[in-house]
Amino acid sequence: MNILVLGAGQLARMMSLEGAPLNLHVRAYDVGSEQIIHPLTFHSFEQTLVEAIAMVDVITCEFEHIPDDVLELCCQSGKFFPGKAAIKTGGDRSIEKNLLEKSGVPSAPFKLITEREHLIEAVSLLGLPLVIKTCQAGYDGKGQWRLKSLEQVDEIWAEMAGFIASGSDDFPHTIIAEKMIPFDREVSVIGARDKAGNVHIYPVTENQHTDGVLTLSLAAEIDANVQQQAIDAFHKLATSMDYVGVLAIEFFDVDGQLMVNEIAPRVHNSGHWSQQGTACSQFENHLRAVAGLPLGDTQLQKPSVMINVLGQASISSKVLEISDVKSHWYGKAQRAGRKMGHINVSAPTNVELGQKLLQLAALLPEADYPGVLATGQRLIKS
Ligand code: ATP
Ligand code: MG
Repeated sequence: MNILVLGAGQLARMMSLEGAPLNLHVRAYDVGSEQIIHPLTFHSFEQTLVEAIAMVDVITCEFEHIPDDVLELCCQSGKFFPGKAAIKTGGDRSIEKNLLEKSGVPSAPFKLITEREHLIEAVSLLGLPLVIKTCQAGYDGKGQWRLKSLEQVDEIWAEMAGFIASGSDDFPHTIIAEKMIPFDREVSVIGARDKAGNVHIYPVTENQHTDGVLTLSLAAEIDANVQQQAIDAFHKLATSMDYVGVLAIEFFDVDGQLMVNEIAPRVHNSGHWSQQGTACSQFENHLRAVAGLPLGDTQLQKPSVMINVLGQASISSKVLEISDVKSHWYGKAQRAGRKMGHINVSAPTNVELGQKLLQLAALLPEADYPGVLATGQRLIKS
């Protein structure tokens, strides 16, 4: 079976790697160059998008900011999963907030902003500080402002007005102001839903961000109450979108109560640990779901940690001397802060996982790999 993935980055690459043994062959549409390429070799198939849509059996995506005309073409073919509504929801925070409200899933209180006056209203409604986000753009914490005092309003509004003005009648640009949530930690849940509505959900993952970018994810035994809240949210959101494929939901954990931060209608960075912590990774399960195959096991087999490699072109090869440690490189040109690859590490117990993280911390400088040492120390005590 041939599968077209919209987007040609690391997520398409990892789908390709996991699809091949299932006889699922991935080609990727690079939105920038408008080329259909092999996501591992970057070799061009010398094919137009229309030709690729006609020849593949299934179409899916690795990101949500898909140009409207491309999404339209793919949807018209009847081959596209998870579906237009899910992509529109994931690609626009205002639509996402509507879905969350409609589904009865708690999320940060917010106000939509299209005029300067709304910003002042948001301050009196939600209080300070506020997290201000573009609705239709942004990733890895980009397209965001923090409003801490009223004196900043003019400066931030000047930047916001630029974004709003760059929209059009067909594609209006909006901004959302969210209450700053004093969370204890950030977690996410990833699950797969197939065409018949069967759902397989991975254990809740704890995520550490540095400067708005995910640096480390930990999948270990999790409080049953937290897991249940995540499962409930997953069912509500996936059902209301009639979702097919892997869906990720990011949450703030405030004193054991989960509040949704955002959703991603795709495989997600915080699920990369599933490549070795479970029998069936998020990439394989996504392909299984969209290809109409049975979903695979999502139980945690071994506590696992994923460490992002950001902006580094290489790591010490000694890392690979530690058992159950694997590197995954994305084949990208080096750029400061860019997601270049990740490292997965697993162990039979939390304590052993902690010990491996201490070994890794000696090889990975704290400045470039924050949280490895502290997470190791915490797991050893657990
Ligand atoms: P990504 O695509 O990497 O997930 P993003 O750019 O879509 O990120 P968000 O996930 O919305 O943006 O925000 C990035 C980070 O900013 C969050 O992981 C969290 O640490 C912080 N953050 C966002 N919204 C809030 C909020 N309302 N209260 C407190 N912190 C927040
Ligand atoms: Mg996020």
